[in-house]
Amino acid sequence: GSALVWFRRDLRAFDHCALYQALTGANRVYCAFIFDDAILTSLPRQDRRVEFIHSSVVELDEDLRQLGGGLIVRQGIAAEAIPALAAELGVEAVFANEDYDPAAIERDAAVARSLQTDGRALLLFKDQVVFARDEVLTLAGKPFSVFTPYKNAWLRKLDADPSVLAAYDVDAHAGALVPPPSSVAGVPALEQIGFERTNLPEPPIPPGASGASRLFEDFVGRMRDYTTARDYPGVNGTSLLSVHLRFGTTSIRHLVRTALTLIANGAGGEGARTWLSELIWREFYQQILWHHPHVVTQSFKPAYDRIEFESGPEADELFAAWCAGRTGYPLVDAAMAQINATGFMHNRLRMVTASFLVKDLGIDWRWGERYFALHLNDYELASNNGGWQWAASSGCDAQPYFRIFNPVTQSERFDKDGDFIKSWLPALRKVEGKAIHAPWLAGGAKGYPPPIVDHDAARRKTLARYEVVKGR
Ligand code: FAD
Repeated sequence: GSALVWFRRDLRAFDHCALYQALTGANRVYCAFIFDDAILTSLPRQDRRVEFIHSSVVELDEDLRQLGGGLIVRQGIAAEAIPALAAELGVEAVFANEDYDPAAIERDAAVARSLQTDGRALLLFKDQVVFARDEVLTLAGKPFSVFTPYKNAWLRKLDADPSVLAAYDVDAHAGALVPPPSSVAGVPALEQIGFERTNLPEPPIPPGASGASRLFEDFVGRMRDYTTARDYPGVNGTSLLSVHLRFGTTSIRHLVRTALTLIANGAGGEGARTWLSELIWREFYQQILWHHPHVVTQSFKPAYDRIEFESGPEADELFAAWCAGRTGYPLVDAAMAQINATGFMHNRLRMVTASFLVKDLGIDWRWGERYFALHLNDYELASNNGGWQWAASSGCDAQPYFRIFNPVTQSERFDKDGDFIKSWLPALRKVEGKAIHAPWLAGGAKGYPPPIVDHDAARRKTLARYEVVKGR
C-alpha cells in the first residue's frame, strides 16, 4: 500500500518513528509539510521561529531527496490540507508523530475525523519524548508532582526496557520513499509564505538537523563541566539545543543515549548526569500538562489563584518596562535585551526575570508567560508554563513563596564581573567594579534608568500578597 508521512515538529530524516513505521509498513511513501495558516496568520511577519522552521524544512527536503524521496510543501489550514493531499495521492494512511500540545491534539483529532470519512486512518507514534503521557506513574498508579521521585521512576523504567532508546533506522528502509509528483514545486521561499527574514542567522543557533548536530558535537566535549558552567549566562555552558528539541531537528533518543554512554564510561562526569536530569525535566513538565490541563490557565495549586496581582495603568507601565529591559536592575535588563534581540534567554535568567516580574513587580505570571511564548524560539507550552509557575510558586515542586530572588545578589553570584550585562547593555560598559550590579548606589550611569522598584519594599509587599496561601 501507500502512505503519507506528515512532518510537524519532527523536522529530520533520521531516527524518526513515523517515517520508519511508514517505510516498513507501506511500499510507496510520500512526505509532506504544511505551513499551517491556523498558526501562521496571527504571527508577526518577522518571526524567528518561522524562519527556523523554514530553513529546517529546506534542509529536510534535501535530506529526503538524498534518500530518494522529497517533501510536498503546501500552505493552508493543515486540518483541511492533509486530508485533501491524502485523497489526491490516493494513500491508505497518514503517519505522523504525536504532539501533546493541547491545540495540536485538537487539530489531530479533526484530521483523523476528516480522513476517516474517506476511509483513511491517521496513525500517530511516540517520538518527541522517551516517556509520554501516563507512562511514568507512582507505584499506586498516580501521576508524580515532585521531580526527583519522577526522575527516579523514569530512570528505573528506562533501565527495565532500554530498547525504547533504539534508533529508528530510516536509511535501511528508504527504498519505499517516492519523490513528490513532478507537478509539485520545491519548498517555497520564506517570502512566498508571507514572511520576512529576521536576524536568526546571527545568534549562535544554526537551524536544521545539521545545525543541531553541530551544536551537540560541540556540547558533548563540554558536558562534563555542565553542572557548574550551566549557571553562568556569560559562559557557553549549555547545549543551546532547546529550539532543536522543540522542532525535532534532533532526536531525544540520540541525546539520551549519548548522555548515558558518557555516564557509563566516566567521560561525562557529574555534568552528563545533571544534563540528563534537564532532559527529564522536559518530560516531567509534559506529563504535568497531560495530567493537569488546568495549568494552561490556572495555578497548579488552586489556592494560588486567590492571590491578587497588580493591575491598572501603573502595572501596565511596570510590565512595559520589564518587557523593554528598562527596570534599572542590570541583570534583568540584560536578560530582556537578550530575549528581545535573539529569541533566546539563558535558564538562570529566565528564573531571575520571571521572579522579578512576579515577586518584585507584583504582576501576574501569566503576563510574563505570554511574553515569553511570543518571543522564545524554543517556546514550549509545558516547559514555559512549568517555569513560570515554578517562579510564581504556584506550580508543582515550585520554589516556596517566601523564597524571593534578590536581583542584585543573583547578579553578583552569576555574572560576577558583569561580562554578560555589559555585552547587552552598552550604557553600562564603562561602569567599574561591583557597581555594575546596582549602578544607582554609585550615582547611576548616563543613559540607564534608576530602579523602578525598591527590592526590599517589594519583597515585603509580596510576602503580604502571598499571605492568602500560607500553609497551603
Ligand atoms: P540545556 O541546559 O542544555 O538543557 C538541555 C535541554 O533540557 C534543553 O534544551 C531543554 O529541552 C531541557 N530543559 C532544560 N531545563 C529545563 C527546564 N527547566 N524545564 C524543561 N526542560 C528543560 N524551555 C523550553 O524548552 N521552552 C520554553 O518555553 C521554556 N520556558 C521557560 C520559562 C521559564 C520561566 C523558565 C524558568 C524556564 C523555561 N525553559 C523553557 C527551560 C530552560 O530555561 C530552557 O530549556 C533552557 O534554557 C534552554 O537552553 P539549552 O538548550 O541550552 O538548555
